[in-house]
Order: sequence, then structure tokens, then C-alpha cells
Amino acid sequence: MAINSGSSSLKFQLFVMPEEELIVKGLFERIGSKEGIAFSYSLNNEKKAFTIEGTTHQEAVSFLIDFLMKEQLVASLEEITGVGHRVAHGGEYFKASSLVEEKESQMIHELSKLAPLHNPVNLAGIEAFKAALPGCPQVAIFDTAFHQTLPTSQYLYPIPMKYYREDKIRKYGFHGTSHQFVAQVGANILDKPLEELKLITCHLGNGASICGIKEGKSHMTSMGFTPIAGLMMGTRCGDLDPSVVTYLQEEKGYTAEEMNTILNNESGLLGVSELSNDFRDVIAAADMGEEQAIISLDMFTSKVKQTIGAYAAELGGVDGIIFTAGIGENSSWVREKCCEGLSFLGATIDVDSNNQSKEIISTKESTTAILVVPTNEELMIAKETMAIISK
Ligand code: AMP
Repeated sequence: MAINSGSSSLKFQLFVMPEEELIVKGLFERIGSKEGIAFSYSLNNEKKAFTIEGTTHQEAVSFLIDFLMKEQLVASLEEITGVGHRVAHGGEYFKASSLVEEKESQMIHELSKLAPLHNPVNLAGIEAFKAALPGCPQVAIFDTAFHQTLPTSQYLYPIPMKYYREDKIRKYGFHGTSHQFVAQVGANILDKPLEELKLITCHLGNGASICGIKEGKSHMTSMGFTPIAGLMMGTRCGDLDPSVVTYLQEEKGYTAEEMNTILNNESGLLGVSELSNDFRDVIAAADMGEEQAIISLDMFTSKVKQTIGAYAAELGGVDGIIFTAGIGENSSWVREKCCEGLSFLGATIDVDSNNQSKEIISTKESTTAILVVPTNEELMIAKETMAIISK
């Protein structure tokens, strides 16, 4: 069972492993709302959606377990031999996926201060499954683990070293499972060993990050100490002059917690468009000529392009640029804007292929391929879980 839990949602996919055969996948949304939890699932290509009673992750998980039995998707609960959970921040504690027992739960909890939007809800998912399936191994797959290969010169910040030594302030990077997955699929599409390719993977969703991959390893990535850094996102600001924070604190008397809320929840596309954090809403408004929406989209795509250019320079060239996640997989407009003017890198978009979201969307003449690869973090989670529990 692969689980990806968010603050108000819980996505699941149940696989037969190692065959990688999907049994059922679904999503609980509106967890925490008074109107009940929205549940949707797809089974044998049929989609269903309804509302269930409850307000907590725990109630969603209890419902899911009953549902699996009732629909005879498992003959007994013992058939679920492991549950893998996406966990945002593993700090320097976790360099790879790990079984979660008491000690590990405590460590994930401790790291919540570095990923306040994510680690607590990831842990809520783990606790809910521990309660619902006692004795079933719970495995954490960390968004940070893939980036543990960053060279020291990439992960250190140019601040006094004591803050790294004493407080572990450094770049960690996130979305590692997704970057690793799409890089491997991209290498398969290009029919070359991943280790021989220089790739730039662009995970553009509500959260967004870019990774430069060399010899199959993460070499540089845009998110940092926390998932707020790097690109502009749905509600997160991305990179910012640090003085903006201290200036606003001094001028407005904001506390650290208030600044956190502003930069994590009220910034990005939402902050600039003053409309929505959802890309589809913002693009619809831009189409209607809303100036702030247009500016926010220009800022978003420009930052992606700048990052691609910088990473190509650091990698010493690039064989493939890969787009993934909600925006990267679905918006041909974003892909075109982000790659506009990149012909000097040998990367030119083929308009028709891009509009059809084909696997390869660069022209035949491009020496740098541009790819669209749907991410599948749940499958990566299932594979990692199996690897850990079979040890
Ligand atoms: P994710 O975080 O990967 O689920 O991506 C969520 C983002 O993808 C939201 O901003 C959505 O508006 C955006 N998105 C989802 N589907 C589409 C689509 N068909 N076209 C453009 N953006 C989309």
C-alpha cells in the first residue's frame, strides 16, 4: 500500500508486488472539514466518488480498510504486507527509506519544524495505519533521500559554518522520489543508461522543484533547507532576498510564525495573482486579461527557465529536460514558455508534439531532448517499501 498524505488529503494505491499490478487507487479529500470527507476511487477503469462521515486521517484510513474488505480487494488484512508512506523531510537522519518504529516516528516528529506543512500530516498517516493494521510494517520514503548525494559545495549555504555544524542548516532538497522516478523513465525513453545522461527534471505542481542529475545522482536541486526555497509555487514564495523577511519583521512587527504563514501559505501564484494558488484558475484569469494573473505566470515560467539555464551551466550541458507533475504534465503553455529561447542549449519545442503532450516534445533536430513524463511517486513508494520489508 502506497500512501501520500497531505494536510487535507490522503492518496492511496494498492499494488500486487513485485508485479507492479495496481489493484485500486483513490483519494480522500477535505479531511478536517465539517462537511465530511470526499472519497473517490478508480477500480477497473471505473471512477466513483461520494462523501463519507468523519473529519480525521484516522477515520479515512478506517474507512479504507473496511472498503478493501467489503469490495473483496483483499481476502484478509494479512494480504497487506507493508505500507509505504511518503515523508517530506528526513533531515540528515535518513539517507534512504526506513522502517518506521517508535524511534523513527520520534525523528520524523522532530523534523516537523523543518517541514511544518508536511511532516506532521505524513506522521498522521503513519499513525493511522499503525492503528488500523497492527503488526504491518510501516515504511517511510523520504523526499530528501535522493538528494543526499548533493556535493558539499551544493548543499552548504554561505553562512557561518557553525550553523551547519550545530543546527544542521543546509540544503536538503525535496520531491526526490519524483525526480528519481521520472529521470529513470526518461532514460528508458531515450534508450540510454541513466548513469550516462545529464538530466534536468522539472517537477511543476502546487509544490515545484528542479533537479540536475549527473551519473544518475542528484547533483543540484532548487528546494533547500525547507520546501519553500527555489521556484515560485502555488502558495510558496521560493527564493527571496533574506532581508525581505527581517525588514517585514521589523517594519510590521510580524513574528517568525506569521512570516512563515505569509511565505508558505499566502505567497507564490496566490500572492501575486491575488486570485488562486491553482494554476488552472490563474491561467483562466490570465486568458481573461487579468494583469496580476499574467504577471504571476510570467514570474513562474521565468524562474523555471532561469533555473534550467543555471543547471545546464553547472552540469556542463544537458541531454534531457523532463517536465512532470500537475502543471508540467498538463500545461503545454507552461512547457513552451519555459523552453522559449533555449535553442542555444539545443532544446527546441516541437509545437504539435507539445500540444499533444507526447513523451518527446522536442524537434528531431534538438540535441537536448525535452520530455513529458507523468510522475508516479506511489509506484516508487511501493517498490521502496518492498525492498525494505524484504531485507
Ligand atoms: P500537483 O501538485 O502535482 O497535483 O499539481 C497541482 C497543480 O497542477 C495545480 O496548480 C493545478 O492547477 C495544476 N493542473 C492540474 N491539471 C492541470 C491541467 N490540465 N492544466 C494545467 N494545470 C493543471
